[in-house]
Parts: sequence; C-alpha cells; structure tokens
Amino acid sequence: MPAKGTVRTIDTNGALLSVRGAFKIYKENDIETVALRGAEFDIAPGEFVAIQGRSGAGKTTLLNLIGGLDTPSAGQIILAGHDITRMDEAQRATYRRQHIGVVFQTGNLIPFLTALENVMQPMTWNGTSASTARQQATQLLTNLGLSERLNHKANELSGGEAQRVGIAIALANEPNLLLADELTGELDTVTTEQVMDTLQVVHARRNMTMLVVTHNRRVAARAQRVLHIADGVISEETSHD
Ligand code: ADP
Repeated sequence: MPAKGTVRTIDTNGALLSVRGAFKIYKENDIETVALRGAEFDIAPGEFVAIQGRSGAGKTTLLNLIGGLDTPSAGQIILAGHDITRMDEAQRATYRRQHIGVVFQTGNLIPFLTALENVMQPMTWNGTSASTARQQATQLLTNLGLSERLNHKANELSGGEAQRVGIAIALANEPNLLLADELTGELDTVTTEQVMDTLQVVHARRNMTMLVVTHNRRVAARAQRVLHIADGVISEETSHD
C-alpha cells in the first residue's frame, strides 16, 4: 500500500468525482453522530448534480469532505483520479486551490472591497498578475450580468448580486468542480430564480461540473440529476436528461 501522502492516479471509469463508501462519524464528549453512512455516487465531467435533503441530513458534511475541508471516517473521495483521503494537509490545500470552487450560503465577500477586487483576490493569490486579474475578473463579472457593479463595495450590493459575485469568486481560478452549499438559502424566490439562472448559464457556457446541495426542491430541480440524502444515506432520485 502506498504511504499516506502518496498521490497516485485511480481509474474512475470517466467520472470526474467518485465518492466511494464514504462514512463520517463525529465524536463529541463520547457521543457519536453518524452523519454519512456509506455515500456512493459518481459525477461525470460537465454534469450538474443537486443533492437534496432536509436540515441535518448530512449535506454540509458531504460537501466538506468533497471540498477537502474535512476527512471521512472511512471510504474514498476521488477527484480527477486522486484520492483526497490519502493526501496530507499541504496536498489537500493545493487540491482545493487547483480543483475546487465553493459558493457559500452567506457569500464569501470581503465587505470593504469592491466586487472587482473581491474576484481579483483569489486570482492574484494564485500567482496571476494584477493587470491580468483585473481583466479576467471584469470579464467574469460582466458575463454574470454585473458590469454595472464592478466598483461597488460588497456591502453595497443586493443579496442576489452578492451571491453572483460569490459565484464569480468560486470560478476565479477555473476550478474543475463548483460546489455550492445552500447558495440561495437566504434569498427571496425571485432572486433565487435569478441566481439559479446564472448558475445554469455558467454550466452551459463553460461545461462546468457542478454539485449543489440544497433543502429546496425547486433549486434541486434545476440540476440534470438529483440525489436525495436522508439520515446520511444517499439515493438516486430523478434524472432530467
Ligand atoms: P445538513 O447540512 O444536511 O443540515 P450536516 O452535514 O450539517 O447536515 O449534519 C449532519 C449531522 O451531523 C447532524 O446530525 C449534525 O448535528 C451532525 N454534525 C454536523 N457537524 C457536526 C460536528 N462538527 N460535530 C458533531 N456533529 C455534527
């Protein structure tokens, strides 16, 4: 068996993401909570998949594992041929930066920076020059319908605009996989539909592989495939293809 930290390529039969027998057990003061019970599914390159389930079903736990923010108690999470459960902390950080974009429920904007500066920041952190980052961030925000908001501070944006900037931030370094955790959770119905329209445009234009977790059936229905999660168990629900 290779040593922990060894990165080797695993065949996933064409899947970009392969979750195999993933368990997560939280232990706190001798109390064990089994948040995931053998999650098993594949996502093909370019697929838009939703995972729908009630509060406490295990959605955030699953996203944290796929996003490399936490490790499973058992099982494998394989992205682009690499099992992230076998990586050390430094390798996982690189994996996150290179492969994953995350849109958070509350947005991940720095309030005193402009929309443009918020999107430029992850680009420059990743080694892109300031002038290229400015150009690329302007293009990205314009594509998401925010050309009139480039120089607005994040705290001057509406909830829907802030969430679209959040999508631009997640896309800044051209991830292979876009993860979204209840990204419309705090938005009204009309704005939710607008944000989901934006995500569908991103999916269509870039052939982006996307995994959205939500408790909202209408949000889930925008995806090509919906997986249902209840009490840490995942089942295939519907296919829109
Ligand atoms: P969801 O995102 O679907 O609301 P979560 O993944 O947040 O579900 O939680 C799944 C289960 O795991 C819940 O019972 C929750 O209380 C528990 N849980 C989540 N995070 C922790 C933690 N850090 N420590 C202990 N239990 C946790």
